[in-house]
Amino acid sequence: MLKDTDAGSLRKSHVGTEVTLAGWVHRRRDHGSLIFIDLRDRSGIAQVVANPEVSPDAHSVVGNLRNEWVLQVKGEVRLRPPGTENQNLPTGEVEVLAKEATILNPAKTPPFYINDEAEVDEALRLRYRPLYLRRERMQRNLVLRHRVVKFIRDFLDKRGFIEVETPILIKSTPEGARDYLVPSRIYPGSFYALPQSPQQLKQLLMVAGLERYYQIARCFRDEDLRADRQPEFTQLDLEMSFVEEKDILDLMEELFTSLVETVTPEKRVIKPFPRLTYQEAIAKYGTDKPDLRFGLELADVTDLAGQSEFQAFRKVAGSGGLVKGFAAPGCSIYSRKQLEELAELVRAKGAPGLVTMSLMGDGSLDDLAESDVRSAVARYFSTDLIKAMASRMKAQRGDLLLMVAGEEEKIREPLGALREEMGHRLGLADPNTLALAFVTQFPLFEWNREEKKWGSAHHPFTAPRDEHVSLLDTDPGRCLSKAYDIVCNEYELASGSIRIHNRELQGNIFRILGYTPEQIQDRFGHLLDAFEYGAPPHGGIAPGIDRIVMILAGERSLREVIAFPKTQSAQDLLFGAPSTASPQQLAELHLQVVPEP
Ligand code: ASP
Repeated sequence: MLKDTDAGSLRKSHVGTEVTLAGWVHRRRDHGSLIFIDLRDRSGIAQVVANPEVSPDAHSVVGNLRNEWVLQVKGEVRLRPPGTENQNLPTGEVEVLAKEATILNPAKTPPFYINDEAEVDEALRLRYRPLYLRRERMQRNLVLRHRVVKFIRDFLDKRGFIEVETPILIKSTPEGARDYLVPSRIYPGSFYALPQSPQQLKQLLMVAGLERYYQIARCFRDEDLRADRQPEFTQLDLEMSFVEEKDILDLMEELFTSLVETVTPEKRVIKPFPRLTYQEAIAKYGTDKPDLRFGLELADVTDLAGQSEFQAFRKVAGSGGLVKGFAAPGCSIYSRKQLEELAELVRAKGAPGLVTMSLMGDGSLDDLAESDVRSAVARYFSTDLIKAMASRMKAQRGDLLLMVAGEEEKIREPLGALREEMGHRLGLADPNTLALAFVTQFPLFEWNREEKKWGSAHHPFTAPRDEHVSLLDTDPGRCLSKAYDIVCNEYELASGSIRIHNRELQGNIFRILGYTPEQIQDRFGHLLDAFEYGAPPHGGIAPGIDRIVMILAGERSLREVIAFPKTQSAQDLLFGAPSTASPQQLAELHLQVVPEP
């Protein structure tokens, strides 16, 4: 090799030995006749000194270097002179005295600094991706990603799972998003679809008798992109036969606990993982992906609010709606401007408004007097009523009561967002804590208001709960499923379910979802047929790898943990994809491009 030692590995124990290093010029400093180079490779940074009295040739080569030039250096490792050690660098006690230096390749001045973590415009980051990936933080993230995937592979291998690859050119498999299509050259007018997930394939592997399958699988979904989505992303896709929900959850708990403790021991995992039903999650936190790093639980005060003279509350309480809220500790001092910001937040999420009550002073709630309550609507509430509401929200004096009223479905999101916001404002969302938890018992179906039909809440292969099968034909909206999620901090990390393995039940679900018998046969015939040849009971889950690495790396964006990600608007700025096809390619694919009107 062109080097025999990694720059970042140099220590005192190397002193007196001769090494050959190769890497990039991270920084250069001229100190009169001595020239210092920080030479960087993946392992880290080593200091190289060129002294004209030791080697005039090496000194003159080093004299011409600029940042990011590729350099090979041969020299002797020695202790840095006393007082010049660098405590912040693992190699900071030693340096290499250059005897020979060879320029392996010069470099143009990069469009941003590699040797400094200063914020770089997103477009530049993606356009010059290989240069951006040279930065220490990105190297760290990619190494972390490697460790996570390696850990998962080893963990599952030890437990009898085998990794099986499944096709990328396949047919639509519904996960609720739009498909990416690939036109067929051989069959004019026909298309492959890229898998939104290997869902049906992994179920077929269970029919095939594999019992324990996993794959680090790429999934493709053509959806409108939000901050934390990519058109292609990676899942740990996993399926097991002869299991029940608890088996999958226990396995995941062990996997994630040991993953974090091994790969990022500086992070704290809350053990055991809380397991809450979807209904509990919505009632207590207003969302099915609650951040459990903090409490701030929502309380239902509808009955109390209905006894007040406040018309807005009375109306909601009298018409089947809810009044819910929570106490923000120590926030009675919030200014009018701060309260208005919070009101704006709930309005943006669709709530009609926010009712606030500041409970001034300290000491017991029992002594709360009328004059201690600051609220635009205080006059409509007796002090006893306020005390009762406050105690239901477990408030103390000094706290701020935050309440939203309306139909349950319309207030959950605003309340969930408000709780999240207060958790962050109050510094309760500790970035080094991973509050992993399971959410279970999701509804089987969701009503699609626009299309006026049922859709799957998870996907159509999810089994209904045994005790709810009879509801399928009478009241599908009340039918709960064997689907589960893993949540972590404010993110959904994984979804999965126990599947249907019975042809008749699966056919019934497709009918409820509005597929015609022909569509069922065309799109799912292969699966239904397979179910007739002894399909074992099975279930699985699919945690998002990008998301896991993002959380473990403490990043805010998936793009920082994917080597070659796409922009928010699904473009690859490095390759310039998507791009047009030549007339010849289009002709071969039997395609015509119709300009946008
Ligand atoms: N295929 C599902 C998904 O991508 C996960 C699963 O049910 O295993 O969300």
